[in-house]
Amino acid sequence: DTARKQEVLEKARESGVKFVRLQFTDIFGVLKNVAITVEQLGKALDGEMMFDGSSIHGFTRIEESDMYLQPDPASFVVFPWRPREGAVARLICDIYNPDGTPFQGDPRYALKKVLAEAKEMGYTMNVGPECEFFLFHIDKEGRPTTETHDQAGYFDMTPIDMGENARRFMVLTLEEMGFEIEASHHEVAPGQHEIDFKYSDALDVADKIMTFKFVVRTIAQRHGLHASFMPKPIFGINGSGMHMNQSLFTLAGENAFYDPSTPDQLSETAKYYIGGLVKHARSFAALTNPNVNSYKRLVPGYEAPCYVAWSLANRSSLIRIPAKRGLSTRVELRNPDPSCNPYLAIAAALKAGLDGIKNKIAPPEVTERNIYHMSADDRDLAGIASLPASLQEAILELQANPVISSVLGDHILKNLVAGKQAEWDDFRTAVHDWEVKKYLTLY
Ligand code: GLN
Ligand code: MG
Ligand code: MG
Ligand code: MG
Repeated sequence: DTARKQEVLEKARESGVKFVRLQFTDIFGVLKNVAITVEQLGKALDGEMMFDGSSIHGFTRIEESDMYLQPDPASFVVFPWRPREGAVARLICDIYNPDGTPFQGDPRYALKKVLAEAKEMGYTMNVGPECEFFLFHIDKEGRPTTETHDQAGYFDMTPIDMGENARRFMVLTLEEMGFEIEASHHEVAPGQHEIDFKYSDALDVADKIMTFKFVVRTIAQRHGLHASFMPKPIFGINGSGMHMNQSLFTLAGENAFYDPSTPDQLSETAKYYIGGLVKHARSFAALTNPNVNSYKRLVPGYEAPCYVAWSLANRSSLIRIPAKRGLSTRVELRNPDPSCNPYLAIAAALKAGLDGIKNKIAPPEVTERNIYHMSADDRDLAGIASLPASLQEAILELQANPVISSVLGDHILKNLVAGKQAEWDDFRTAVHDWEVKKYLTLY
């Protein structure tokens, strides 16, 4: 490891780096960082940088607050938008206790544990996310509004405006930071965009999703716009999802979901994986859709799923199997939204799929009807359940499911549930505009 350390020090020297941001993600999916000067980089790479864990929401109590950051050398990257002289770089960190053991509240560690379980079963996981977001105007006081920067729709070409320039700059910046961008386009809703990067192994992608969100927000800001990954910022139009394309590869590098000898060319492993996702979907919703607002997106009519079903083509389903086969054979999980903690969301989906494989959970019959148009009786007859309708329902489902809650471990489970329950209570007791409009004059 001294070789990898030397490599990072060398890269920092070559790029004229003066500041290094040590980054990690808290259990609520918020990226945190501390800046050190390059003179401290050697010590930091040895895992000697300490921080106060009790000041990070959901981490530790004040009596046991010393935590250590252990940078992952592979994550070293220079911020292209910062000055070349006195440049700024970042390192993504794992979190350790003072006794050198991994901190149980570290979401990155939670994902690593499930990935190790997959590896024991002979699999690695690949994930390809599709992150959607809105670009909003900023008002005269510099505050973000919910006024979209354009009126365009799906795949539209906007006239040269700030939004288009911003998106172009986002793509170029991400490429400079080592992303392979596959596509970027205007999404269905006004002011809504999507940028897709190439699939990669699950841990790398979770890191990349966190990087992606802060780069997009940073570049938008530099173009006088506010980028938001809030799932449903505006009522009546599409919200923002983060479809999660996933597949398992064997250790020999073959796609374990592909089997050319079956009618749909999906392997038995793929079917059981889908069975696991279907079985646990209501319980991992709290992780893929972790906010009060997430459940405003999961309603009929806006291309977001609200029913637990799978299909080959139909986009009203929770799970869709894109037409590509061979190495690209994959399962597209459509409920995650970009406000999720990607480490926990990916860990939970993988755990659900592995449970399906282990216990040979056959998926239900494939649904090719538009489920938005099925009546509740039709859905009952077809055995199609609904996703949770609120954060409250999702929390209860998570707590009641030992398979999914085991992904988190006691520390994250306890702190996440407490935080989310408080968020729900806050929302539940607030008086919303809708209520005032509805009842103030009626009664
Ligand atoms: N925005 C939609 C969602 O909320 C997805 C639209 C699409 O990518 N086709 O999931
Ligand atoms: Mg897409
Ligand atoms: Mg999309
Ligand atoms: Mg998609």
